[in-house]
Amino acid sequence: MDVTKIMLTEKEMPTSWYNILPDLPEPLPPVLHPGTGKPVTPDDLKRLFPMALIMQEFSPERNIEIPEQIQAIYRMWRPTNLHRAYGLEKALDTPARIYYKYEGTSPAGSHKPNTAVAQAYYNKAEGVKRLATETGAGQWGSALAMGCMLFGLELKVYMVKTSFQSKPYRRIMMETWGAKCVPSPSTDTKAGRDVLAKDPDSPGSLGIAISEAVEDAATHDNTHYSLGSVLNHVLLHQTIVGLEAMKQMEKADAYPDIIVGCIGGGSNFGGLVMPFMRDKIKGKKKNLRIIAVEPQACPSLTKGPYSYDFGDVAGMTPLLKMHTLGHTFVPPPVHAGGLRYHGMAPIISHFYKLGLIEARAELQVPVFEAGVRFARSEGILPAPESAHAIKVGIDEALACRQSGHSKTILIGLSGHGHFDLSAYDEYLSGKLKDYEYPEEKVKEALTSLPAVPGA
Ligand SMILES: *Cc1c(COP(=O)(O)O)cnc(C)c1O
Repeated sequence: MDVTKIMLTEKEMPTSWYNILPDLPEPLPPVLHPGTGKPVTPDDLKRLFPMALIMQEFSPERNIEIPEQIQAIYRMWRPTNLHRAYGLEKALDTPARIYYKYEGTSPAGSHKPNTAVAQAYYNKAEGVKRLATETGAGQWGSALAMGCMLFGLELKVYMVKTSFQSKPYRRIMMETWGAKCVPSPSTDTKAGRDVLAKDPDSPGSLGIAISEAVEDAATHDNTHYSLGSVLNHVLLHQTIVGLEAMKQMEKADAYPDIIVGCIGGGSNFGGLVMPFMRDKIKGKKKNLRIIAVEPQACPSLTKGPYSYDFGDVAGMTPLLKMHTLGHTFVPPPVHAGGLRYHGMAPIISHFYKLGLIEARAELQVPVFEAGVRFARSEGILPAPESAHAIKVGIDEALACRQSGHSKTILIGLSGHGHFDLSAYDEYLSGKLKDYEYPEEKVKEALTSLPAVPGA
């Protein structure tokens, strides 16, 4: 019998996260204080984050134990399955062996609860009562709403206004789990009021919503801020995905030649690939290829300079060294809402600089074509974000058909697309548009890159 789902029991679920920082061939550039240009200290960050997460951000420990209360919640849906894509292989007539790690079975429908639950736990443990965050299409907001609900924390979500208006279902999900959700820019913060004063019809952006959430946390008692991607501790929590996948590949008596994932801020990709990356760095799997896929409409890794930049529009966050399109960049309205962030995780940017990963930028029509092909061969209707990874996975499998090589390909399937059906509808009815690389807009936004004090 051919095994289609490679499963782990709850007892086999990893009990530590993997921290790649001590294994990096070169250390990560420091995070800088925007005022002084000096490396930030844990003290600088404690108004926004609990100390446990700040320590994880800079930790020299390779393995960080997952607290039992977090493991107990993970067990509500983890371990997630690794699938062998027999249907897709057949449809492509490829000798490649395709596997995918599916995170869409979490209650929120993506990988995001892996860190949401951990962040809620550590904030609760330090006596915080309330969190503030931003969300684009609503995936992060809904994941954190679930995490906060499970630990009895209040949550306020600033949701990018266009999505708030066009995607009510994610908002309803957040409210069902007890969170408060407002459209951003809002009148609840100075950052929001400033934007509205200049442009009352502002559609909002992730950068604006981050400014609002950071200000909310800084100006309310007992409130912290929470970020769903980009930062080291977020990527750390997501390594549960790659650690499970490694055990599952072992069970299948296989090891990937190629790993593909989509990148928005870089957390699902980082979480999946870092445990395997360790083998590559150590020379055990020198030829392992790792490919990150982003949208043409927001190509931070392939087109953005590697530079210090802010995480938000208002310039309130510390400065991160990353590939960035400029913190004022507002990408064209592609449907992969989770991939529309101007910057890329410092860890992922660093991998790219060191030549440890490859990067591709894809147009949305071929991405949806790949998503539909996947749905028609594997059944699962993927999130538009995840379909970016599928697109490149398919390209690699077709290259195997050409060359006759039987490579093993592992695809990160970060979530399902059940809230993105109107985008599929556009594709199926031939109305979906492509957006070329917005060169002029990027050029303009790059003039906003901050000068690093003292540099
Ligand atoms: C948010 C999201 C992404 C992009 O975020 P990363 O931090 O890059 O992982 C990708 N896929 C899905 C399903 C998402 O919800």
